[in-house]
Amino acid sequence: MAERELRARRQASLRGLPSVDELLRALDGARDLPRPRVVEAVRGVLADCRRRILAATSAEDLAALTLSAEVLLGEIHARIQAARGFHLDRVINATGVVLHTNLGRACLAPEALERLALVGGRYSNLELDLATKERGSRYVHVDALLVRLTGAEASLVVNNNAAAVLLALESLARGREVVVSRGELIEIGGAFRIPEILARSGARLREVGTTNRTHLRDYAEAIGPETALLLKVHPSNYRVLGFTATPATRELVELGRERGLPVMEDLGSGSLLDLRPFGLPHEPTVQETVAAGVDLITFSGDKLLGGPQAGLMVGRRELVERLRRNPLNRALRIDKLTLAALEATLRLYEEPERARQRIPTLRMLTEPEAEVRRRARRVLRRVPPATRAALGLGLVRDRSQVGGGALPLVELPTAALALGTAAHPAQELDARLRAQRPPVIGRIAADRLLLDCRTVAADEVELLADALRRLGG
Ligand SMILES: *Cc1c(COP(=O)(O)O)cnc(C)c1O
Repeated sequence: MAERELRARRQASLRGLPSVDELLRALDGARDLPRPRVVEAVRGVLADCRRRILAATSAEDLAALTLSAEVLLGEIHARIQAARGFHLDRVINATGVVLHTNLGRACLAPEALERLALVGGRYSNLELDLATKERGSRYVHVDALLVRLTGAEASLVVNNNAAAVLLALESLARGREVVVSRGELIEIGGAFRIPEILARSGARLREVGTTNRTHLRDYAEAIGPETALLLKVHPSNYRVLGFTATPATRELVELGRERGLPVMEDLGSGSLLDLRPFGLPHEPTVQETVAAGVDLITFSGDKLLGGPQAGLMVGRRELVERLRRNPLNRALRIDKLTLAALEATLRLYEEPERARQRIPTLRMLTEPEAEVRRRARRVLRRVPPATRAALGLGLVRDRSQVGGGALPLVELPTAALALGTAAHPAQELDARLRAQRPPVIGRIAADRLLLDCRTVAADEVELLADALRRLGG
């Protein structure tokens, strides 16, 4: 067909589309949504139609487009339905990755949620000293707790650990040198790289040692009149194995003392609990690092600690004071909701067993495999046998990961639901589960979709079973 003819037909199709007003009049329901949202849905669907018409390259293509008012209304209803949900919403984490950055890292304890709602919905003494009626400091609300729990002299909290590292370096080393081992110049997710954050702080990097081996003498030889700080960084999400060496924290502290230089350690995850009794490998706790004499320690609130996103700093009073007075601190400051949740989380650590039971991150990390398996069975029992057969649904043993750049080599034995058949491939089931409300996020391994029940909470068993039943129906 001539190009001119096709163009004419396209124009006719475009003219044939109903107007926004016609569609709005024909639209039933959706009165619960603000009108601009409804109009946006109508306009969006019409714009899609126009694009499809203009993209048609033959009369057959054009004829194949079904653009009846009925079809358009159906599409508009689908958009409106999607607009009803919140954009940021809960999902069921069936990946088995306990601290999943894409899924929001740590889930808060009920105690923390309660404080968050109360302090968020009411006025609070955020910066008011109730005894004197003078202006108070927002940092005092968690300071005594952090000092008691870690044994440090003083503390400070900011928005996240990346901010804590930046603030510390800017406060203590701007315009001067920071000595770091080559093996610790790490990148963690989200484009946080130690050399870059160091450059941003205005400090100069003085790399020492090699990728796999750095000795105390390497640090000692690098110290000069320009040196401001000795920095140790937890390698977080990777390990150098084999022929490796790095000085003990205590040795580095001794060197710092001899040369009159502060030693800082970015612990990354920063656990307040020794996880060895639960069969996890030893991670230096914040308390141990304080006891080793490190002058300033930074760590995350929402990794192993299991609290809200925050950057925690503990250490010598004089250094912490310098950080607190830095104008940059105001730009990185922690908000009241975070403080409320953080105080409640830290209070749980005053009784370690309570912390383990109440903080979801710790509970998931320490839950025995048999317990996870019982939960997986409960899900399975709620799915009718015919659906199970159709989906090829069964129980398998698997390994969960800690995630969040913490304990990267640890694999926790776990129980997972596995599904996928020739008729229903894992990819398809994965996409359909992600389209559910709430979405279910699993992972695909060897052509099977695995739903690891370690990260599925007890009160999500019903929801997960519902989602699986809908897959079969
Ligand atoms: C995770 C991590 C950070 C960044 O912490 P956020 O709380 O994500 O900002 C910094 N340093 C190390 C070593 C980490 O593991």
